[in-house]
Amino acid sequence: MKDVQFSRRSDLGSRIDVSFEFFPPKNDVMEARLWETIARLEPLAPHFVSVTYGAGGSTKERTTRALARLSRESALSPAAHLTCVDASRDEVDAVIREFAELGVRRFVALRGDPAEGVGAAYRPHPDGYRNTAELVAALRRIGEFDVSVSAYPEKHPESADFATDIDVLKRKVDAGATRAITQFFFDNDVYERYVERVRRAGIYIPIVPGILPIHNFAQVAGFAGRCGAHVPAWLADRFAGLENDPQTHALIASAVAAEQVLDLIERGVDDFHFYTMNRADLVFAICHLIGIRPRVEQASIAA
Ligand code: FAD
Repeated sequence: MKDVQFSRRSDLGSRIDVSFEFFPPKNDVMEARLWETIARLEPLAPHFVSVTYGAGGSTKERTTRALARLSRESALSPAAHLTCVDASRDEVDAVIREFAELGVRRFVALRGDPAEGVGAAYRPHPDGYRNTAELVAALRRIGEFDVSVSAYPEKHPESADFATDIDVLKRKVDAGATRAITQFFFDNDVYERYVERVRRAGIYIPIVPGILPIHNFAQVAGFAGRCGAHVPAWLADRFAGLENDPQTHALIASAVAAEQVLDLIERGVDDFHFYTMNRADLVFAICHLIGIRPRVEQASIAA
């Protein structure tokens, strides 16, 4: 008898870890949606959930509020994104301690983009951490934190070449990062080639693929252009003509995400980070597809 494909195994869900990323809501309506989303996803028992941080501290109050509520009201393990752009060391250290007091034990350490936006030249704050590796080292000095960092399968738009990019990742790992989460990508060959390059450079931490379910193709295509992620022609073709057909767009989006995740599983990936965009349906469906089912005891927000 032919072996069952790995992605069709009945015990798949117990072999796969997931984490979910949220952004701090801007108003009451978005806040209500975020907590509905968390209530739906919490029973899937993710490894951790992360909350983004506006570069230069622009979302500090909102990020803090979301982390505090996650710590207080859920059984989830919250991870705080933290950037070092446009902030002094003292300011950054104070935020680390404040988050730690809320019960945060995980951080996603990032440099962040200058206030002028993606692509503007980066200049460290005169009294600040000069780069992400220094921020990682500060986190490790201040507490016993689990520290993740970013990775760029298509290289960071500011990088001259892959060698520079991977060297930057290596410095972050040498400073104490234990996991890298990738920028989103749509071509799994690109991810696989990147992981091979990273391993050849002697970096052995998990390189967790960041999966972006496509809620709005036009928006994703615009955003991808700014952060150096390539949108393949076949992907654009799949969404072509669906601008005014949200129902079919949603069905195609779930088929596309399912295809990407199942193919990565066949390639040996067993850990996924989902950019939820504060929406539950697509992520919940993909998790269901890969055998991750709600656990009743893990539903404190819904309760
Ligand atoms: P790094 O990985 O430290 O560096 C990025 C690039 O800069 C390098 O690849 C290299 O090209 C260049 N570089 C850096 N240091 C050196 C050096 N010493 N010598 C030469 N070149 C160098 N942004 C936010 O504002 N808030 C968030 O919450 C947030 N979350 C994110 C989560 C993930 C998973 C990812 C992938 C990105 C996130 N970002 C976030 C975006 C991120 O801040 C930007 O991409 C930013 O431009 C780079 O930050 P970084 O920590 O990834 O940079």
